[in-house]
Amino acid sequence: MNSKYQICSNCVMDTSDPNIRFDENGVCDHCHDFETSVKPNWHTDERGRAELEKIIDEIKKSGKGRDFDCLLGLSGGVDSSYMLHMAVKEFGLRPLVFHVDGGWNSELAVHNINVMIDKLGLDLYTEVINWEEMRDFQLAFFKSGVPHLDIPQDHAFIATLYQFAEKYKIKYILNGGNLSTECVQYPMEWFYYGTDMKQIKDIIRRFGTIKMETYPFSSVLRHKVYLKYLKGVRVVKPLNNIPFYKNEALLFLQKEYGWKPYPQKHFESRFTKFYEGYWLYERFGYDTRRVQLSSLILTGQMTRDEALEILKNAPYDKNKIEDEFNYIATKLGISSDELRSYFNMPKKYYWDYKNQQNLFRFGAKFLHLFGVEQVKKRQK
Ligand SMILES: [Zn+2]
Repeated sequence: MNSKYQICSNCVMDTSDPNIRFDENGVCDHCHDFETSVKPNWHTDERGRAELEKIIDEIKKSGKGRDFDCLLGLSGGVDSSYMLHMAVKEFGLRPLVFHVDGGWNSELAVHNINVMIDKLGLDLYTEVINWEEMRDFQLAFFKSGVPHLDIPQDHAFIATLYQFAEKYKIKYILNGGNLSTECVQYPMEWFYYGTDMKQIKDIIRRFGTIKMETYPFSSVLRHKVYLKYLKGVRVVKPLNNIPFYKNEALLFLQKEYGWKPYPQKHFESRFTKFYEGYWLYERFGYDTRRVQLSSLILTGQMTRDEALEILKNAPYDKNKIEDEFNYIATKLGISSDELRSYFNMPKKYYWDYKNQQNLFRFGAKFLHLFGVEQVKKRQK
């Protein structure tokens, strides 16, 4: 174990990322990756806009004579909300907008989704995940001891997305993912792949207690190979082709739609708020804000000092955490003591269970080699 603490002299990533490397000036590999692989391929000027216009034309053509020309998943967070605005108002697209309700929507998320849909005059397709299955799936992940407890929510979103694409024969998926706020990648130990079916099956087999009969599953082979290469379904990330600044987007959405901001990225789900804000932070020492703030530093939206100031405080409210802890336990149908026992159990990681990491590693290298995907998960 690398025991010496070190923090990057340029961003705020530190040795809580077990694979971080520093150069002689104390600058980390995330910063170097940004300069050498992200920045040169990232165009938000006329060049990016021209590339985007071309794709928008293709999207419109593909949707001729159909009810929709693209697909967009709306979480109620800033990225997907802003993208929806751009898609409809700026690009003139006709997206099928869907939302996956995994049982943990915060009031803010519901509010934001409703104001966007109402103001834009759209229909919302909501996929409600069977709660008994969701709950059992989430508990299985708690019992497994791994950090990536978000997989049951994440996977449902991805699988539903591709089910919609297939059902409505939609070729283009708009994705709010963007380099501006997400150019620094989460370490693999923190967030493992949400579509590793081998791992999911292993954890369900060991810790699940009911049959997953309706929960939507999708393997990476199905959506990355079958749908992508055989059906021609494409994921487009328009926010990478235009100037996109988090604070400006937040202000714009509030003014234009009566949208309400969250205290932290991903907090639109009450579960994620608890899990990223408390569980990962206290049980594993992973502070997801480090990654998010480092992205903002590298893209010039925040100074390092501002980020350090934010990191001085815990990501959760210490006065409210006991209530929140009890709420999560009650909602999951277990006692607070049982939830506490999972918090205190020995830490496990993705490699403690069956997994397909080699397949992902190969796939990521392959896609990167062909310039298909700029930001991949960091490979060991
Ligand atoms: Zn750095």
